[in-house]
Amino acid sequence: MPHEEYLPNGRQQVDEGDIAAVVETLQSDWLTTGPAVERFEQCLAAHLGVTRAVAVSSGTAALHAAMFALGIGPGDEVILPPLTFAATANAVLYQGGTPVFADVENEGLLLDPVSVGARITPRTKAIVAVDYAGQPCDYPALRELAAGYGLPLASDACHSLGGAFQDTPVGRLADLTVFSFHPVKSLTTAEGGMVVTNDAALAECMKRFRNHGIDRDHRQRQAQGTWEYRMTDLGYNYRLSDLQCALGWSQLKKLSGWIGKRRRIVERYRELLGELPQVRLLKEHDGRTSACHLMVIRVEAHLRDELFNHLRAAGIGANVHYGLVYRHPYYAERFDLPEGTCPVAEQAEKEILSLPLFPGMEMTDVERVCSGIKTFFRTTP
Ligand SMILES: *Cc1c(COP(=O)(O)O)cnc(C)c1O
Repeated sequence: MPHEEYLPNGRQQVDEGDIAAVVETLQSDWLTTGPAVERFEQCLAAHLGVTRAVAVSSGTAALHAAMFALGIGPGDEVILPPLTFAATANAVLYQGGTPVFADVENEGLLLDPVSVGARITPRTKAIVAVDYAGQPCDYPALRELAAGYGLPLASDACHSLGGAFQDTPVGRLADLTVFSFHPVKSLTTAEGGMVVTNDAALAECMKRFRNHGIDRDHRQRQAQGTWEYRMTDLGYNYRLSDLQCALGWSQLKKLSGWIGKRRRIVERYRELLGELPQVRLLKEHDGRTSACHLMVIRVEAHLRDELFNHLRAAGIGANVHYGLVYRHPYYAERFDLPEGTCPVAEQAEKEILSLPLFPGMEMTDVERVCSGIKTFFRTTP
């Protein structure tokens, strides 16, 4: 067999325009917290049709800022799914709050509004939906539920930048929406994140939070001819640099094209894998446009790790997104949630496998992955 190049699970796209945008910023007066931050924030806000965007140093910082702005503190419960990256729940812990895990539905593995409803208590302070694999959750149902209890609804949309629910883009489906710009996500700033909202007070609060809880940044002080500033909250240094924002701004121009490419790759996967009885695909719910972040398949639990190893041995970057948050030792030691807490997620966790998916992939790469899977099932009883 000829030696084939390793096919990663996800990979960024960076072109000459991106490089030029970063170099231009390097040669400017500002390396951090200059005009490129606002330019990126305003372009993303305009792209999504929201009034406010706050750039921060990572998706995790964005989740933390969202929890801070919603006033989460000790004794407060935040409902979220366990089938997510640990950062979704960690952000609640950073604020001293308690993550409460609600189950996902079995077809798309998205937060189940019925399970959320069953977890609401007088201590519940917020709901965080996760658009797993890039598909938006059932936001109308979640919003109705949240509104009924007077709760804010936040969206961890780290997978779904570029997706939509009917004609409404991700970013306008919840009170606060969080994005990550890690290299495997829809667009990248290397590390980076953003929170978008239509709530001016929440946005101002998060702008202070990313800058030590200080009420004016150094450019505002310069413009106002003053050295004075006041620290009013215990914030952090969660700023995103001008260099990174220049990259993000340049990347944003290509977002729609990349989502289209991801979609075509997913369609080809669905064509080729649809005929395999051993492979189950996630359902794309009617009226929802996925940002196609992950190509997740489900196989018999006892075969999943074998298939993972088979693909890895063939140079194919299979992965698992995710082990459940409450199974991580840190969470298991503190919360000790019994088997059956979220039965759908617990079963899915054993069956899921993410196949390579990124805009630079060729259709021949998709065919290579699918023939690797077919070979596995032909040779495995
Ligand atoms: C990537 C990701 C995060 C964290 O983003 P970082 O930018 O890596 O901090 C949080 N939640 C989900 C669902 C993610 O995929």
